[in-house]
Amino acid sequence: MRIIVVGGGVIGLLTALECSLAGAEVSVVDRGEIPNPEATSYDRHRVLRALHPGAPEAAAAIEAHHRWAEVESRLGADVYHRVGALTVLGPGEPEASAAALAEVPGAVRLDERQTVERFPHLRPPRGSRAVLERNGGVLLADRILTGTAALLAGRPGVRLLPGRRVTGVEAPFGLVRLADGTALRGDAVVLAAGLWSRELLGPDRSDGLTLYRQTQLMCTVPADLRGVWERTPTIPSLGTPEGSWLVPPVAGTPLKLSAAVACRPVEKVTDRIAPDAQRTRLVELFTALLHGFRAEWIERAEDSYYLADSTTHGPVLGQLGEENAWIYAACGGSSFKFAPLIARSLARRALGTGPGVPTGLAAVDRPVRMPGRLRAPDHLISGVAP
Ligand SMILES: Cc1cc2nc3c(=O)[nH]c(=O)nc-3n(C[C@H](O)[C@H](O)[C@H](O)COP(=O)(O)OP(=O)(O)OC[C@H]3O[C@@H](n4cnc5c(N)ncnc54)[C@H](O)[C@@H]3O)c2cc1C
Repeated sequence: MRIIVVGGGVIGLLTALECSLAGAEVSVVDRGEIPNPEATSYDRHRVLRALHPGAPEAAAAIEAHHRWAEVESRLGADVYHRVGALTVLGPGEPEASAAALAEVPGAVRLDERQTVERFPHLRPPRGSRAVLERNGGVLLADRILTGTAALLAGRPGVRLLPGRRVTGVEAPFGLVRLADGTALRGDAVVLAAGLWSRELLGPDRSDGLTLYRQTQLMCTVPADLRGVWERTPTIPSLGTPEGSWLVPPVAGTPLKLSAAVACRPVEKVTDRIAPDAQRTRLVELFTALLHGFRAEWIERAEDSYYLADSTTHGPVLGQLGEENAWIYAACGGSSFKFAPLIARSLARRALGTGPGVPTGLAAVDRPVRMPGRLRAPDHLISGVAP
């Protein structure tokens, strides 16, 4: 069986690996390098935690924790730092329910005093509480992509095709058209084109998708504080109304600081330069939240983008017509941590062995119908055969 995977981000690469491990011949096509430093996936780290107050994703996240351990051992590299996860609940936020806590193995509740005793470098909001998860932590995203691409490159039956832009798909024929006028044909096609999906879907189908741009501060922690910061769990919520979050500086990576208020909808991808106003706002927020934090810690401030369903803010999976062709059309803000589950599900569909065990992620388990033919706008197509 021949499978064409479009996109060398985390979803495309892990899907290609699953297909190859199942014995398929796989071609991975990307408009840039493989992996592509411009992809949403290509960053120093991504966060994995199980507790999602108010959302039914804990079971999927716990499963993802086990699947990442498998990926890690397959890559033979230390890419998942299990520093745990601390979710601080602000004074106005509801308590994590006993049911939610029971789902997360080894999770403990901390009151404000206990939080400060354990993590004296943090200043959680007055009256806050927290949940500390033993599992979860930091996924070293760029190392995962590079390692998976290298693993794929060494596997029989796998072709990596960097620098090829896909301009169209004709699902009934398993045909993937490239900007250089050539085409690839497969028994199944999986598109995981990230924020560029909109080019292939066209304006009508992209209507329900929103592009987000987020500012992040990459910081170097002073040498005398480095030890304590490296042992800090990842903190997906610091309990502030601004939605502040941070990723600790594990394995030589920077301390990363950001907040929900630094994420805004935009029309298109332009540069990655963080606006001064966003930078200043984040500096003010974290000066209040972290002992000793100063703007001098900042190595650089940068913006990145992701595409999400406008209503659910999550991902979108589509089937092209009734064919064995699938498009992971939008990734949302949490597809990295779930990537091994999503990839396994996509691979099973492509291999024709069905979706298998549900992932627990509604968008992945219930794909929507998309047109069987996709075509990029004319200005992106050069010399395509009729
Ligand atoms: C600031 C920020 C923080 C985040 N934090 C987290 C987190 O903590 N945890 C988490 O789980 N998720 C997080 N996410 C979301 C997560 O990073 C994404 O959901 C995930 O990386 C998406 O991966 P992908 O493979 O779908 O897309 P991408 O990584 O964007 O890959 C798409 C690939 O397709 C290629 N491509 C596109 N169009 C074409 C074409 N026409 N022809 C050929 N190739 C093409 C691109 O070059 C690219 O390599 C975050 C996102 C952002 C922006």
